[in-house]
Amino acid sequence: KVRVRFAPSPTGPLHIGGLRTALFNYLFAKKNDGDFVLRIEDTDQNRFVEGAEEYIIEALNWCGIPFDEGPGKEGAFGPYRQSERKQLYKSYALDLIEKGMAYYAFDTAEALDQHRKDHEAKGKTFIYNWHNRLKLANSLSLSAEEVKNKIAAGEDYVIRFKSPENEELLLNDIIRGEIKIDTNILDDKVLFKSDGMPTYHLANIVDDHLMQITHVIRGEEWLPSLALHTLLYNAFGWDAPEFAHLPLIMKPVGKGKLSKRDGDKGGFPVFPLTWNQSEGYREAGFFPEAVVNFLALLGWNPGTEQEIFSLEELVNTFTLERVNKSGARFDPEKNNWYNQQWLQIKTDDELTELFAAELIAKGISAEPSYIKQVVSSIKERATFVKDFWELSDYFFQAPTSYNEKAVKKQWKEGTPEIMEGVATVLESVQDFESSKIEEMVKAWIANKELSFGKVMPPLRLVIVGDMKGPHLFDIMALIGKEESINRIKTAIA
Ligand code: GLU
Repeated sequence: KVRVRFAPSPTGPLHIGGLRTALFNYLFAKKNDGDFVLRIEDTDQNRFVEGAEEYIIEALNWCGIPFDEGPGKEGAFGPYRQSERKQLYKSYALDLIEKGMAYYAFDTAEALDQHRKDHEAKGKTFIYNWHNRLKLANSLSLSAEEVKNKIAAGEDYVIRFKSPENEELLLNDIIRGEIKIDTNILDDKVLFKSDGMPTYHLANIVDDHLMQITHVIRGEEWLPSLALHTLLYNAFGWDAPEFAHLPLIMKPVGKGKLSKRDGDKGGFPVFPLTWNQSEGYREAGFFPEAVVNFLALLGWNPGTEQEIFSLEELVNTFTLERVNKSGARFDPEKNNWYNQQWLQIKTDDELTELFAAELIAKGISAEPSYIKQVVSSIKERATFVKDFWELSDYFFQAPTSYNEKAVKKQWKEGTPEIMEGVATVLESVQDFESSKIEEMVKAWIANKELSFGKVMPPLRLVIVGDMKGPHLFDIMALIGKEESINRIKTAIA
């Protein structure tokens, strides 16, 4: 059975890149009737941030991509926080020592620093591996007796992986294909630390194995770790899961990876939800459907022209084979476009409910059926529900001012008399419907031998306060006969 995991470290807010990783894991799991696991990788206690785990879970739920197993949803493979699995990892590190594939190292931070400096002085880079490990303080260079004594004396130690010398390693990635690595460039990574905690590498491999993860889908920044991870699976004698490294998400302009700063500078969100002072997608007024939609297309393509996908359609269409190798450019404008598209897909009832809540907050009361008609006439022009008010305020209140530029252009000698005439016509319309009003006003214009240009623009100004809005007769029909006439009278008073 397919089992995948999203394994964030709770070191701060979930970035849009992390959410994309979660989404791709979710899609792959659901496409294959598999399980989507959330594992919290909190072994680095110095970087732990209060509230980050809750934030991550809330973000997944908001997007509609909940996990099947994880903190608070205990399955057969828990606990799902690495800090709660702490006692489990050491024996695996010791097992590797026994097999001769890992070793104790006692080098102090100062000693390692000195080695680094000495190498630098010679124009070289210090790598802790086969090259020099026998010159350093570890269980490969020291006698068994010395090692025993050091440990007994309570000296700080770490356990390092003994990376092989002179081997060509063949790595496999579903997205990138085969990758060849010369093991001589690998350093002997720390697996276990003196504070009794495993490092990311050890805990990650042990947990993926114990949790029976079949596919590891994660960001490209972890590709350099793939060699070590493959070696670790081999060392333990375990079958490795399959790997898929997702392409980087690039800045909207220029070079490099998208960062939190880009959002600050560009005024667009890079977090799913608000985190401290930065605005999140939810708070900016995005629909979760739109966020899921644009995230899916950051690095994946369906191979067709289709751009709008529901979560369900994504589940049906998604394959790792169609994930691109090259970086995906983050495009805030396009993200807005997705929201605008999703706004049109929403039913008028859904939109009415959302808008009604905003109107109540503004202290404006209106019948739901009225709000719904307004929504249906203006939604085409909106990207967010929060745009509705600016697009439709005149449906709920008479203009409090008139656009000055438009007044200059449209309000001429004779206009007040024309408006007066229109008011009289409106008075005589029986069924105050858009087509009826239009018919009568047009007949009157023809009869008076006026031009459309003399009547309609100032009439819009009087009714709306500006030159914006949908078909004017529709607006008048909606606000009603009395209100339409009142607005004309107010304007010419
Ligand atoms: N804890 C790692 C992270 O924060 C997980 C990397 C992986 O998926 O292996 O991204």
